[in-house]
Amino acid sequence: MIEGTRQGDRGRDALRVVVVGAGVTGLLAAIRCVLAGHRVVLLDRGPIPHPGSTSFDQHRALRALVAGDAAATSRAAPLHRRWRELDSLLRDHLPGARLYRRVGVLTALPPGEVASAAATAEATGLPIRIADPAGYPHIGFPAGSALVLEPHAGVLLADRILAAAARWLRHHPLADLRPGREVVGVLPDSGRVLLAGGPAESGDAVLVTAGPWSAALVGLPVTLHCQTMVYLRPPAELAHSWAVTPVAGGIGAGGQAWLLPPVAGTLLKISTDAVRREVPTLSDPGDQAGWAARVLSAGVVSEVDRYGVVAVRHCHYATAAGGDTGFVRVGPAVWARPASGGDGFRTAPQAVDAVVDEFAGRAAGAVAMAP
Ligand SMILES: Cc1cc2nc3c(=O)[nH]c(=O)nc-3n(C[C@H](O)[C@H](O)[C@H](O)COP(=O)(O)OP(=O)(O)OC[C@H]3O[C@@H](n4cnc5c(N)ncnc54)[C@H](O)[C@@H]3O)c2cc1C
Repeated sequence: MIEGTRQGDRGRDALRVVVVGAGVTGLLAAIRCVLAGHRVVLLDRGPIPHPGSTSFDQHRALRALVAGDAAATSRAAPLHRRWRELDSLLRDHLPGARLYRRVGVLTALPPGEVASAAATAEATGLPIRIADPAGYPHIGFPAGSALVLEPHAGVLLADRILAAAARWLRHHPLADLRPGREVVGVLPDSGRVLLAGGPAESGDAVLVTAGPWSAALVGLPVTLHCQTMVYLRPPAELAHSWAVTPVAGGIGAGGQAWLLPPVAGTLLKISTDAVRREVPTLSDPGDQAGWAARVLSAGVVSEVDRYGVVAVRHCHYATAAGGDTGFVRVGPAVWARPASGGDGFRTAPQAVDAVVDEFAGRAAGAVAMAP
């Protein structure tokens, strides 16, 4: 048990936990903590949820298959169950909405790599199917590619998840949400959280979940990335085709592009890794038109001129050497998730489970995300 543990209302090991940042990681961490009986103070410099967080977007992809990597696929496979649990926990707080839509994920591969993908799926018990590119004439695939469909994967309705999680927490007596509180420093040794223009906060445990801004708060090295996404409205005559289109990756002329289909009233979103770049800061890189033109010319959808461009957005994430997307212990009672990475939304439940088990001194094993 970490130093400073004290008894709370709901059990001998209840803690006061300060969570810095209310993106998907901070919100799920707060939920996981209160379900375990801990008292939580959740701080964000903006509103909760914050449209400026990197989690705040209409959707994020959730898939498990990493072709040729059985270990990574096995690690990711339980995420479907975790997100289904969260969906049932949070759904009541956003009436009518299922937050995880299992529309499937297509991956375009060179034909020679299909056997390896199938072997990975078989070794990990993950259902997949081979699909026919001719069934998706509205998507641009690299010439001669084959398609693997992961039918149980899909789309997380990201901004709705954040809204439902915030609402769930607001109704929970152990959660104290404090929007508009900017943290200017976290002292790893004492666990003191310094606030702009106000007194410091401290807790039995501190979780720094400020997304790509975390590293600066705790002094860890990360690489910052920026990627441009374009939001499209499909032509009316293709609405029916898009309604049954899965998420797709490995697409476009160069096989570097991906799309998230219009699901539950969202727009079609496209991007390509060809426009992902390392950046020195988290500021807006500008030249929106230039970056958008590169995305639009990547051959992601057929006849792109028939689509309406509704919005263009630059989004950031941080990675660390080794690619670890989990929490790092930076002090006796301070943990940070400085490099949530390009998969950081879907992996947030696992990162959160691991850190809460660790700081609560529990044996490994999850507390179900159930009411
Ligand atoms: C183009 C793109 C596509 C992506 N696609 C996917 C995908 O398909 N699937 C997937 O799983 N992941 C995807 N990701 C990654 C994913 O979005 C992020 O890893 C994840 O959302 C990070 O969540 P977070 O909670 O750690 O950080 P954030 O969502 O950024 O939350 C951090 C919060 O901390 C607050 N904050 C920051 N500084 C301070 C401070 N000093 N004081 C107080 N509060 C502060 C912010 O206001 C914010 O609310 C994508 C990322 C990008 C850029």
